[in-house]
This record gives sequence, structure tokens and C-alpha cells, in this order.
Amino acid sequence: MGSYERNQNHNIKNEAGPFRLAFRKGTLRITNKFGLPAPLVRAVSNSKYNKGDADFSVTELIKPPRITALEAQHWEELEEDASDRLWALMGSAGHEVLRRSADGGIVEERVSIELGGLKISGQMDYVVADNAIIDYKFVSVWAIQDGAKPEWEQQLNCYRYMAKQYGVVVKELKIIAILRDWSKLEAKRDSSYPQSQVTVLPIRMWDDAVVEQWLKMRTIAHVAARNGILPNCMPDDVWEKPERYACMKKGNKRASRVLDTRLDAGTWIASQPKPSDFNIEVRPAERPRCESYCAVSEFCQQFKDWKAAHGRT
Ligand code: SF4
Repeated sequence: MGSYERNQNHNIKNEAGPFRLAFRKGTLRITNKFGLPAPLVRAVSNSKYNKGDADFSVTELIKPPRITALEAQHWEELEEDASDRLWALMGSAGHEVLRRSADGGIVEERVSIELGGLKISGQMDYVVADNAIIDYKFVSVWAIQDGAKPEWEQQLNCYRYMAKQYGVVVKELKIIAILRDWSKLEAKRDSSYPQSQVTVLPIRMWDDAVVEQWLKMRTIAHVAARNGILPNCMPDDVWEKPERYACMKKGNKRASRVLDTRLDAGTWIASQPKPSDFNIEVRPAERPRCESYCAVSEFCQQFKDWKAAHGRT
């Protein structure tokens, strides 16, 4: 049983205090390795993020507790290059434009609730008059290839729950994904590729009891992590892609089929008119967040262990 499970029954209120002392201080160090112009560097260094007097924001809660705790622990050593923050800047600019073009409804409203003695705040992008919560994401095509990310579902369901505490009954949750690297050419070539630069992803709604349970478990895990008890990141947290098996036809660069098990791949090949034309190529397991999108990966023992187990350097 991991530390996360061991701490499920802890009293949240009593553990909230010591943690705040360990929380990160100051802003992240921004480097400028590619000599970007100064106004651009200033713009990307400017963070408007503010959770007010809340103990947690929804944005913090949807982040895996292990990441938040390691960031707090290694804050002084962390840095990010200005060039890696450009898309976040574009996202903020896009949000600002969309905020101005909203037609009624509630726009970028910060709301908060009390749960288990903790104050939790959240900022919704847009609640339209017919009671849908809409959240805009400025992401790559890759980010939506498996549909909405689990953390988006968590985020919007928290907002729905919070809106209800304010008397707004939400009937629909939607992510509007604006695909920054979308290619018209690729859309023409491949019908499974998003056919438009804007993709609307409906989000599954949770019952109130599920949201409450998720919030309870997540705050416990974050409080425990802040107190030095690091839970492991879960498969959803690391955007895990298990090993898969590609059926490759001789001479083709693209797989004819990609299947979950070697047995499935072998069975599919055996069903083809000329099985000897095919071979199976193993697509190794991936943890894209650890590999490319986690600022604390170099300090993370869980990731080091996973790499060692999968023969990665
Ligand atoms: S490297 Fe991976 S496992 Fe470690 S904190 Fe980051 S996301 Fe979690």
C-alpha cells in the first residue's frame, strides 16, 4: 500500500497548517538561452496567477501531488527558458480575446468553496446562459489524440460542483481545444486527424458524491505531499501509454494496425491474405509527462525507477 492510501483517513484541517510553511516562495527563474527580445521575455515572465486566500486552487489540485511537492522542495533549483513559455503566453492572449468576445454568461469568474475545513478556489473560463461550462485549451494536436485529458475532466467537474454551490445548475461541460500546430495538409491526408483547428470535446459529468470524494482524496494527498509523504504519480497523471504492437506491412512506413497485445497483433496478421508480408513492431511504453513535460523529472525517484525498469537512460 502506497503512502497515498495510508493517509486517506487523515484529518485534512489538522494537516493543512505545517504544509503552508513548506510551500514554494517567489517566482520561477526564467532563462533566455535563445536571446529573445526583452519585451517578450518580460511578457512570458509575467504570471497573473492568483488563488486569493484559498488553501488550494482547482488548478493546483488537478496537478499530481508528487509534482507540486517536488516543485516546492526544489524551487530554488528550477528554471524554465523563456522560449518554452511562448505557447502559454499565446494561450493567455487567446483567453483575453475570448473573454472580450463573450456574449453574456459568466466570464473568468473566480469562485470558492469550503470543504473539510479547507478553502478551494477555481476560475471558470466561461459559463454560458444555457448552463454549460466551457473551458478553452490552447494545445497541440498530440494533446487531444486520446480525447480529453483526465485532469480536464477533473477540473470541469470541480467547477460544475462549485457553480452548484452558487446556485448555478450546469447541464453540460465542454472543452474547446484550439490546436496550435494543426495542419490543413495533414487533415486532407488523414481522415483520423482532426478535421478542423478547433475541436469541441464533451466532458463526462460526475455525480456530486464523486466530485466530493475526489476533492477529499486529492486534498489529503496534497497535504500529505506538502508534509513530505510523497505519493506516486498515477498512470493518468503521467499520461501513460502502455506498450503496443504495430502490424507492419513490408515496404509501408505506417502501421496497418496497432494493437494492445502481441497475441492480438499475431491473430490479426494471421487473418490477412498473405501473413508473411507482415511483421510485428513493438511500440515501447511511454510516460510523456515524465519524459517531456515535468519540470521536476530529474529529481523524481519514481521516474528514475521506471526508466531503469524499461531500459531507458
Ligand atoms: S517525473 Fe513523472 S512520476 Fe515524477 S513527478 Fe513528474 S510526472 Fe510524476
